[in-house]
Amino acid sequence: MRESIISIQDVSFTYEYKNVLDHITLDIPKGSFMGLIGPNGGGKTTLIKLLLGELRPTSGSITLFNTPIGTYKDWHKIGFVSQKSNSFNKEFPATVYEVVSMGLTAKIGYLRFFNQKHKAKILHAIDLVGMREYAYENIGNLSGGQQQRVFIARSLVNDPELLILDEPTVGVDTENVQRFYELLHDLNKNHGITLLLVTHDTGTMTEYATDIACLNRTLHFHGEPKEYVTLSEKDLSTVYGHSVSLMSHNH
Ligand code: ADP
Repeated sequence: MRESIISIQDVSFTYEYKNVLDHITLDIPKGSFMGLIGPNGGGKTTLIKLLLGELRPTSGSITLFNTPIGTYKDWHKIGFVSQKSNSFNKEFPATVYEVVSMGLTAKIGYLRFFNQKHKAKILHAIDLVGMREYAYENIGNLSGGQQQRVFIARSLVNDPELLILDEPTVGVDTENVQRFYELLHDLNKNHGITLLLVTHDTGTMTEYATDIACLNRTLHFHGEPKEYVTLSEKDLSTVYGHSVSLMSHNH
């Protein structure tokens, strides 16, 4: 039995009158790389907001690192990279180093100076995402894929045990999507970071994820990629509400 980092027990959520999540039970095991997929409007972002404590379940319970979410305090253990982080324009006046340092200022406060230990942490996070040679470049001059790596570095400065990523590859070109997944795989396998990734890249994701959860108001599927890829088109069209075929990125 794998130890859970997140435990979602029979969670339902309703916005005003609209029931968006219906009796979801899902555990995210420590060390896993979970891909969360499903059609638009299926409730993925809502579930992430519940896990980040931005929304409260209408019913059911959520436990983070064995603590009920209502009393959970160790938020530094959870990093979050949102969908459209990579929207800096060329004039944005911050270097990669400065953007990554913002992950630490959230913790130590804006008025304090960084000591050597903080500086080393910032550079280490930049190293982890393979962006050291761009450390003093203006973030606005980088490609979408490079900017997204910088945002991952910003969340890594706090040494998170869990990283939640909401569609991080939107706006990243195909070749860099593959490299981006290799980075995630490295963080998961070699640095022990548990990953929860919301994505539409089902083809690429199934090559790297250890677990797949498919959400469309209810949890339609939870299992390993090898089980997911054997789902028939009929099974998938039940989830997506229309005909879909499972395509690998290299087809
Ligand atoms: P996904 O991330 O899978 O696309 P969402 O969680 O964003 O799904 O949305 C699930 C459903 O909840 C959608 O039908 C959406 O219109 C609805 N919804 C999202 N946010 C709100 C809100 N603030 N108020 C009312 N309905 C919302």
